[in-house]
Amino acid sequence: MAYDQSAMNELHWLIDMVQTIEVGLVVLDRNYDIQLWNGFMENHSGISPNSIKGANLFDKFDYLPATWLKQKMESVFLLKNRAFISWEQRPFVFKFGNYRPITGRADFMYQNVTLLPLSSLTGQITHISMIIYDVTDVAINRLQLKAANERLEHLSQTDGLTQLNNRRHWQMCMQREFDRHTRYGEPTTLVMIDIDNFKRINDTYGHLAGDKVIQHVSHILKQSLRETDCAGRYGGEEFAVVLSNTNAEHALNFAERLREKIAASEMRYESVKISVTVSIGICDIGTKLENSAKWLANTDNALYQAKQAGRNCCVTFKE
Ligand code: GH3
Ligand code: MG
Ligand code: MG
Repeated sequence: MAYDQSAMNELHWLIDMVQTIEVGLVVLDRNYDIQLWNGFMENHSGISPNSIKGANLFDKFDYLPATWLKQKMESVFLLKNRAFISWEQRPFVFKFGNYRPITGRADFMYQNVTLLPLSSLTGQITHISMIIYDVTDVAINRLQLKAANERLEHLSQTDGLTQLNNRRHWQMCMQREFDRHTRYGEPTTLVMIDIDNFKRINDTYGHLAGDKVIQHVSHILKQSLRETDCAGRYGGEEFAVVLSNTNAEHALNFAERLREKIAASEMRYESVKISVTVSIGICDIGTKLENSAKWLANTDNALYQAKQAGRNCCVTFKE
């Protein structure tokens, strides 16, 4: 009798705990009909256990990814193994609002879900349990950290004035393109662009006007690029672009168009019109190029020749 009493007490406590625990508990039978729906589920869904008992899970929540979830549940029934659904895989299974003040930033509750096989007294898996954990805090922190890291990474690679790649990052891209060429042999051409008589622009209109000119040129450059081109601010008023899948002849067409566009553009600073031209050096990766430093040096050499030739022109490197 005392044993029965104690067992009854234990059962009573257990039921109490199941109802009040800060974790969602749902028991489903073989047809996915809901057999248990605890207090957590009631609080977050607004649906009472009485009104949902016996209802089919997928009828009741038609937004659930039925095919995918049933497949997971079937494997729990058949293999008698647990299965897990993490918030990273799927942010939530049950669409619950998130009204916790600290994590008010999330619109919904991020969830981890465990699917647990429940065996009957005869050892058969007749039911499964869904355990739903609220992991909103963890998810939000992780997502914010990830976003912050992405912002930092972007900042560390980007030139502040032009939003082009900075020199360090551009050089990495350039090396990557050089290595790609070594492997696949696709034509790849380097283009270096330098603003003409920029010192004079600074001296005449001031440093701020000079900055605007740099931004103006980089803006036109960006408009001229393809998705696969890698452009960067190489130095003060120098830009560099790696044109993938482009030979020197096509790169010259690109450079000429860019040069003309810049020369014809209207650049105004405090209602004063400033004329801007650029000189451009071009060099593709030929058979004689042993490394990327030589590629850069040859392009720089072509750029120097363009300056020597009177500026506002493009020169392709020749051995
Ligand atoms: P060239 O036609 O031969 O290229 O002549 P240049 O005057 O453009 O060439 P030089 O290299 O002598 O001058 C570049 C100047 O650019 C020198 C430097 O003070 C200026 N400069 C470098 N970075 C910046 C910047 O971020 N903003 C501004 N406004 N000026 C810069
Ligand atoms: Mg210059
Ligand atoms: Mg220069």
